[in-house]
Parts: sequence; structure tokens; C-alpha cells
Amino acid sequence: MNKVVLITGASRGIGKACALLLAEQGFDIAINYHQQKEQAQQLCNTIEAMGRKAEIFQADVSQELEVDTLFANIKTTLGPVSHLVNNVGILLPQMPVTQMSAARINRILSVNVTSAFLCAKAAIAHMQHHPTQSCAIVNISSAASRLGAPHEYVDYAASKGAMDSFTTGLSLELASQGIRVNAVRPGFIATDIHQDGGEPERLKRVAPMIPLGRAGQPYEVASAVAWLLSNHASYVTGAFIDLAGGK
Ligand code: NAP
Repeated sequence: MNKVVLITGASRGIGKACALLLAEQGFDIAINYHQQKEQAQQLCNTIEAMGRKAEIFQADVSQELEVDTLFANIKTTLGPVSHLVNNVGILLPQMPVTQMSAARINRILSVNVTSAFLCAKAAIAHMQHHPTQSCAIVNISSAASRLGAPHEYVDYAASKGAMDSFTTGLSLELASQGIRVNAVRPGFIATDIHQDGGEPERLKRVAPMIPLGRAGQPYEVASAVAWLLSNHASYVTGAFIDLAGGK
């Protein structure tokens, strides 16, 4: 049975880089997107041109019914999911905690955290169809879980703290089934997310404060994700890889 990886939020940024690298490494790719159908389709075409299988799937992964439909559609087209990258994450404009509304906080938590629970739950059911495959999940957390993102996005940082606890707990729940669960904690990666956070030039501002002196690139995160999903990491579970240039 083929290795099928679902990458949530793969139309751009880190998700897209993961899709390209995992396709190179022999996975069939389920590309989830929310709004950017054209970008998702272009990525799908590129992967097919590499001789690999890929399909695009629109879904808001913070919504339970949409996640159920997403997994049913993947099973029909590519086969059951054997690997999952919980990549979706959003930032909202920078502000101090004193100005954050309940609506904003709940949106961050549902897109950044609930989505990961829902996708993991559905993926675990698919993984039972891959008894001989070493199934694995990688959660995309953030250096913000350690740094707190004061005056900018404490809500986002707290959502990533939740992803860290989720990774630890789920890895222990699934260890006896041989399903590995790990996380990467990137920081300061050159993607569009900083524009959504209201400061497109943020990486230029923070670069001098990063020990390696520069922002990271999406492919640098993707290589850690690919390693954690691979059999080279067969004894690694409940682990975190920090990818923040030394921060
Ligand atoms: P990005 O470029 O803004 O891309 C976000 C992706 O998520 C897009 O593909 C978007 O889809 C998708 N998405 C958003 N809401 C969705 C939803 N409700 N359902 C399904 N898909 C949804 O982000 P990125 O920088 O690559 O970030 C990827 C992950 O890395 C996130 O978890 C982020 O928190 C984490 N991270 C990023 C950095 C960084 O500096 N960039 C640092 C640390 C951690 P559409 O485009 O189709 O709408």
C-alpha cells in the first residue's frame, strides 16, 4: 500500500515546501487548502510532473464535518492516510493581550489547535489500514510556544503551547500502536503569514536578533518534517525540533 501523506494548509509556505519534499521522497500527497485553489492546483501539477500522485482537497480543517468529508475523499482518491502533517496555522494582527476579544482568541485556538485534534483523530482511524507501514504524525508548533510573543500575538503563542502538550500526550497515547508523533518549532520563516500578522517586513526587523542572523526558508522546515516522518526517525516520538536560527 502506498504511503499517503495529508498536509493541511499546503497551498503555500511551509506546507507547500513539505509537499514538494515528501513527493520527492516517494509519498502520494493530499494537498489541503482553504481559499487558494489556484496555488494548490499549481502545486498539484508540479508534483504530478515529478511522476508522483497528488490531489487537492478544499476544507476548513477547524470544522469537524469538513474534516470528516476531507478524510473520506482522500480515502476514495488516494487511499487511506498513513502520515499526517498538522501544518495549518494563522496569525491575526499584532496587539497586546488587553485588547484581544474572545472571538479572536477562539478563532486562533480553533484554527491552530482544534484542527490538529480533528485531523489526528481521523488520521488514526485511517492508519489502522496500514498495519505494515510505519505511520507518523508531525505537528507544526512554533518557537513562539517558548518565547510567548509578547505585545504581538500571545494568543498565537499559547495555541502553539497547546500544540506542544498535544504532541506529548498523543505520542504517549499512540506509542503502543507504533504510531510516532513529533513536532517542529520553527521561528521566523519567510512566508506570507507575517503579512497576515500585520507586519510584512517583520523578518527584516527581527533578523539582527536571530543568532544565525537571518530568517529561515520553508524548505529548511520541510527537511526536518521529512526526517521525522521517515524511518530514519524510527525511534523518535514525543520529540521537538527547534528551527529558529538559535533563538
Ligand atoms: P502561510 O504561508 O500563511 O500558509 C498558511 C496555510 O494554511 C495556507 O495554505 C492556508 O490555506 C492554510 N489555512 C489557513 N487556515 C486554514 C483552515 N482553516 N483550513 C485549512 N487550511 C487553512 O503559513 P506558514 O508560515 O507556512 O505557516 C505554516 C505553519 O507553520 C503554521 O502552523 C504556522 O503557525 C507555523 N509557523 C510558521 C512560522 C513562520 O515564521 N512562517 C514560524 C513558526 C511556525 P489557503 O492559502 O488556501 O487559504
